[in-house]
Amino acid sequence: MINIEDSIFNVLKTCLSRYEQDFLPLHAPIFQGNEWAYVKECIDTTWVSSVGKFVDRFEQDISDFTHVKHTVATVNGTAALHMCLHVAGVQAGEEVLTPALTFVATTNSISYCQAIPHFVDSNQHTLGVDAKKLADYLADITEIKQGVCYNKHTQRPIRALIIMHVFGHPVELDEILAICQKYNITLIEDAAEALGSYYKGQHVGHHGLLSTLSFNGNKVITTGGGGAILTNDTKLAQRVKHLTTTAKVPHSWEFNHDEVAYNYRLPNINAALGCAQLEQLDDFLVKKRQLADTYQHAFKDIKGVSCIIEPKNTKSNYWLNALCLDSNNLMLRDKILKITNEQGIMTRPIWTLQNKLPMYKECPSMSLDTALLLEKCIINIPSSVM
Ligand SMILES: *Cc1c(COP(=O)(O)O)cnc(C)c1O
Repeated sequence: MINIEDSIFNVLKTCLSRYEQDFLPLHAPIFQGNEWAYVKECIDTTWVSSVGKFVDRFEQDISDFTHVKHTVATVNGTAALHMCLHVAGVQAGEEVLTPALTFVATTNSISYCQAIPHFVDSNQHTLGVDAKKLADYLADITEIKQGVCYNKHTQRPIRALIIMHVFGHPVELDEILAICQKYNITLIEDAAEALGSYYKGQHVGHHGLLSTLSFNGNKVITTGGGGAILTNDTKLAQRVKHLTTTAKVPHSWEFNHDEVAYNYRLPNINAALGCAQLEQLDDFLVKKRQLADTYQHAFKDIKGVSCIIEPKNTKSNYWLNALCLDSNNLMLRDKILKITNEQGIMTRPIWTLQNKLPMYKECPSMSLDTALLLEKCIINIPSSVM
């Protein structure tokens, strides 16, 4: 009988045979639309930098796609997160709840505000913040004083919660928003991986007071580097725009700035790429779903491993496909990573839990049983659009 690691490799090989490539990256961008024409237009007109018509169009196109009222494009997703926490009023010395199982950008954005990450556990199905565990935990460790939620153990205010839609799979947004409202905690959605993902029929990014996207090279669509802040709150959108554009007071020739702010703008040349990519997003999403279906079908009969699938009530963009090893096969993970990578199929484990990173190991945390298990069982597999 063929062993599990070899059968996983064989199934991957079969699923990916139609790519006809010697090396299959985890996620490569494709440029088959108007990318070249729009970028050329920036160069021909000299409008390459931080203002220009593609920036305005890109922001409008993102809002049209997500139906979140306002979009402010930013230089990357990390800067977008930093801005969200800043305008949400997160102060130095306050705590911000955040999943232990996320990419480091989520956690770093909290540190940029001199605030303290406070780690929460994941849900086995969504891979994101677990609503039930969060509710039980907050009931246990917090007290509300004059409308502010305090951590009883540290006496610090808990100001915000960042949730992250892992690999594009939406978290339990309704339940989590209800908890935030009960405790007066601001909800921010890190939707970096979730452009094109829906929760109960609505695009993600509507539950958070503010939400973010990333257009890094490995995301669903790319601007080279880039990000965006989404919000339905018009005042906050204006504030975000002001703060990401050096707080310049609008004037035809004078340079006046009314507070310390940031140059977090997305250049026009990057927005041009984004506009062209957005034109193809519907097609990318169909193809991503087809690849996810192919994997799910092919792995159905393979014992010891399963595909991560979209949670109920959601439609995932399937940004990055993932396998999960059964608990009695966890010791095979590194062997599978080795076999696949050595033979041209790029795979990788999920991120190291944030509470294990040297700069975050002293941060407060709830028990992370599920996140610890997910960290050991998940293997990401090639997910590019063809
Ligand atoms: C990609 C990503 C970001 C933002 O990354 P940038 O490279 O700064 O655009 C933030 N959070 C998560 C979870 C991500 O995957």
